[in-house]
Amino acid sequence: MNTRLFSGISVLGRWLLLAVALLATGCTALPAGEGQAGTPKNIIIMFADGTAPTQWEFGKYTARHLRNEGFAVTDVMFREGTLGLLSTHPANAFITDSAAAASAMSTGRKVNNFAISMTPDGQRHTTLMQAAKARGKRIGLVTTATVYDASPVAFSVNATDRGNYQSIVDQYLQLEPDVLLGGGAEYFLPAKAGGKRKDALDVIAAFAGKGWQVVRDSAALNAANAAKLLGLFSDEDLDLELDRDAVKEPSTAEMTAAALKALERNNPNGFVLFVENENTDTAGHANDAAALMRALWAFDKAVQVAIEYQRSHPDTLVLVAADHETGGLSPTYALIDLSSTSSKNRLYVDVARLKMLEGITLSIAGMVEKLGKKPTNEMLDALLAKHYPGFKLDDDLRAAMFKGEPLERNFSYYVTSTALSRMVSRQTGIYWGTGGHTVEPVAIGAIGPGARLFRGWQDNTDFARHLHRLLGMN
Ligand SMILES: [Zn+2]
Repeated sequence: MNTRLFSGISVLGRWLLLAVALLATGCTALPAGEGQAGTPKNIIIMFADGTAPTQWEFGKYTARHLRNEGFAVTDVMFREGTLGLLSTHPANAFITDSAAAASAMSTGRKVNNFAISMTPDGQRHTTLMQAAKARGKRIGLVTTATVYDASPVAFSVNATDRGNYQSIVDQYLQLEPDVLLGGGAEYFLPAKAGGKRKDALDVIAAFAGKGWQVVRDSAALNAANAAKLLGLFSDEDLDLELDRDAVKEPSTAEMTAAALKALERNNPNGFVLFVENENTDTAGHANDAAALMRALWAFDKAVQVAIEYQRSHPDTLVLVAADHETGGLSPTYALIDLSSTSSKNRLYVDVARLKMLEGITLSIAGMVEKLGKKPTNEMLDALLAKHYPGFKLDDDLRAAMFKGEPLERNFSYYVTSTALSRMVSRQTGIYWGTGGHTVEPVAIGAIGPGARLFRGWQDNTDFARHLHRLLGMN
């Protein structure tokens, strides 16, 4: 290039030349890896509790083959962005719970299971949201669980035990997240207002008094236009996507869009937004493949909202992350029945089997709730006929359900749900290894400034270290 000519033209002219040169080479987007250095103004963490690559593959395959749709987590975040993996173990075990994993990802310190951003020596460590606040950033927490559930909490405050709900809500009132959306109204309200607080404090009123707009259903959330927003859509967790009443409870995508709209107002220093889908973990514990599939699709719609925001705000880093795998999800080929081990007696998961999953209209947890404490065969058969078309509960599973005895030692939760789950496994080929968490490393996808830091097989404490560094804290 003629440097004299180049140095003689304006800055604008140079950019135009560069743009023309890029277009001339057919390069309309930055190549992978470029644009991933530097420091983001905004950070969005899209967090799917209990998900690892098998879950993502399940979401991607079912979205493609049942809905003819793409899957942004794999097709955009992992394929076009930076892909990494995280080991997940806590300080005191090989298997983590959500509190310890999220604490490591928030503070960069390994803590014991059930601890919230506090190490075994009793030290409190700076959480990601505390660091963001210290840098003058706005902060938002969104979840389909209660807002005081382990993951959003470990990214925000400190507690010796994840179950200290009232103290955690009190800490939220002090921390003042600009956006707080999810379930869990009951620990914001005193007993006389129908809540579970041991004192007389109405924390919803306290937030309103400080200037937060309070919304309690989907329509109010979608119409909200304040810069500070408290949305509590249920007393406890929000429902699984498969069971969700869209009037009462917004989708994860709606909550993400509302959070971004609020955080973008008065935003000179940027924001950090944490969006969690807890349904993916809940469905994993219940070994509920149909509920997991719907939860993954719903989470992916929220990820699409974040990606669109990043495209119009390139100074934003978007991360897809998770804390651990739940359920040992294991779609496989299995024997159709126990009559022979011949390969002719095998069932492979195929689209017809996935369509059976798609036909399910009530989660296993919903079935358990409807069956109540004293289920009868008639109730069970009526519910199965209505909500599980094409499925048949084998006699051995029915007997186990009525006896209430666990099927195996590694299925320590919910006996009724394990029997129903095994019914679905036997007819679809989607099996599970456990009712708990596993050590499968979790996948991290990153797009935007700083994304390249997350490449490779890292530890979950590295995730926090990168984020604190991007916030200028170390
Ligand atoms: Zn879990």
